[in-house]
Amino acid sequence: MCGSCDPARLLEGGGLKATPMRLRVLSALLGESEAQGAPALLELLRREAPADKVSLYRTLETLLQAGLATRHEAGDGSVRYCAAGPAHPDHHHFYCLSCRRLYCLEQDAVSVGTHVPGVSHVSVRLDGTCQRCRTGAGG
Ligand SMILES: [Zn+2]
Ligand SMILES: [Zn+2]
Ligand SMILES: [Zn+2]
Repeated sequence: MCGSCDPARLLEGGGLKATPMRLRVLSALLGESEAQGAPALLELLRREAPADKVSLYRTLETLLQAGLATRHEAGDGSVRYCAAGPAHPDHHHFYCLSCRRLYCLEQDAVSVGTHVPGVSHVSVRLDGTCQRCRTGAGG
């Protein structure tokens, strides 16, 4: 989750034109501390204004290519997206087997493989039961 990044500036930095849809999708990603699946994103966007599934996928693809978003496979095989970019370095994820959320972890929560020569990207998914589910706080 990030409250300090300006989506318009991120797009500009990524060499992208700040179209309304790009701004909406990137803002939605920046506002979440969990990686979001496309259906969940669509729901989020539609709370504010109509959004079209095809343009959502197209926008996600554009953001991925510009390095402003990353995609991750959750434990159920579905694909989730989260914000990336200069202020959002690679981070790992925790998948809850119970509520199927894919939480973003702090950058230094897991350290693996970074000392291996030639490695440029490491993606680790931890599977388990999130705190919410462990404590029965809903979910
Ligand atoms: Zn940020
Ligand atoms: Zn959970
Ligand atoms: Zn993430």
